[in-house]
Amino acid sequence: MTLYHYKKGRDEDEFKDLYTNSIALDQLPKNELPETTSDPKVIRQLVLDELFMDGNARQNLATFCTTYIEDEVHELMDLSIDKNMIDKDEYPQTSEIEHRCVSILANLWHSPEKEDTIGCSTTGSSEAAMLGGLALKWQWRKRREAEGKSTNNPNIVCGPVQICWHKFARYFDVEIREIPITEDELGINPDKLNDYCDENTIGVVATLGSTFTGIYEPVEELAGALDKIQNEKGFDIPIHVDGASGGFIAPFIQKKLKWDFCIARVKSINASGHKFGMAPLGVGWIIWRTVADLPKELIFNVDYLGGQMPTFALNFSRPAGQIIAQYYNFLRLGRDGFTTIQSECASTAQYLGEQLREIDTLEILYDGHGGIPAVCYSLKDEEEAGFSLYDLSDRLRMHGWQIASYPLPSDRQNMTVQRILIRHGVSRDMIFLLLRDFRKELEYLKKNPVLNNHDKVSFHH
Ligand SMILES: *Cc1c(COP(=O)(O)O)cnc(C)c1O
Repeated sequence: MTLYHYKKGRDEDEFKDLYTNSIALDQLPKNELPETTSDPKVIRQLVLDELFMDGNARQNLATFCTTYIEDEVHELMDLSIDKNMIDKDEYPQTSEIEHRCVSILANLWHSPEKEDTIGCSTTGSSEAAMLGGLALKWQWRKRREAEGKSTNNPNIVCGPVQICWHKFARYFDVEIREIPITEDELGINPDKLNDYCDENTIGVVATLGSTFTGIYEPVEELAGALDKIQNEKGFDIPIHVDGASGGFIAPFIQKKLKWDFCIARVKSINASGHKFGMAPLGVGWIIWRTVADLPKELIFNVDYLGGQMPTFALNFSRPAGQIIAQYYNFLRLGRDGFTTIQSECASTAQYLGEQLREIDTLEILYDGHGGIPAVCYSLKDEEEAGFSLYDLSDRLRMHGWQIASYPLPSDRQNMTVQRILIRHGVSRDMIFLLLRDFRKELEYLKKNPVLNNHDKVSFHH
């Protein structure tokens, strides 16, 4: 009797194999909500199965972002899944942890006044760039108003920047003056600043770890050139450093490099926690040199526990797990851990650079020395090679490797390059395997030239 009721009370599907469950017998609904509820185990499996179609993140050598995560971080992320970063009243300790991360970064980047620094977490460097750009724009406008001068037509000057700066410029009505790179240049040339900066320049963006090649732009030389401009023309133009990648690398493996708040003209710095900060996707940081460098009008104050918690963000609700994981990383790795990991990544990149240099069809643009752990190269002569780097990307993709091909920014847009990022978890062994496949596919393309198939090239663009 009991057994009979037991059986009758259960859904027939429960005893079925996951793949013989009714929803698994057809393609999954794509445009409309299904009428009925389904077994979570079945749906979990079917969704995971769809995700097999994605590339394998660990083999994606085009991304700067974290793809290797410790079990402890998975656990912390899971346990903090319900924490909302904006809700500083309800989660004051999470807020405190965010604040500690800001202080740690301010110290790491040599903020002159430890007590007098200000910053926040963001969803990534893109949001951080919006906030940094806004602060520059407001500071400039205040200066201009105080002088009784026009506040029309602000501009921002930079070298080849990540797309977030183009977004900032368009969304917030600022003219972007991207100085073209010429001849052998890969980044902004300080000698050219004079031609692009004027009284309406809200700031100069220096990139520490160019998206295109991995090189560092020379912050100290840029500051020197701006000092000269100030002496000659009176324009006091601040620098914002986009250290999306470099902000978590230079302090550990390029200690002698002057790029951060040790340079007085550097007023703000952003970095992506989810790149070389090794936190899971969804966290960036921005720090201002001093409280005075962030216009008060942009800050909203949230009271909590009798104190004042300033917030400056484009988002409101936002997950806190990434920030908690960032703090975990700081405590877990310490200065030693960051130094070891980043220098191992750099030496792997340099090894790869050496190996690629021996391939005579390639021209090495960046060999992993002096910038972020990466390499960047092009074909010496596409016509002579009989194939393009886009063809090589396709061939490598067959082994699971994702290596993007793309043109350099103007004025060097005729040159197509590839870039390989070495981040935590991209091991030496993986690079040996990559080199094996790389050589094999170059050999294949040499024997089977695609010739100059221009349609194909433009399709990839
Ligand atoms: C990745 C990157 C960005 C954008 O950062 P997200 O964290 O992806 O939003 C901005 N600038 C540079 C130099 C970058 O490398």
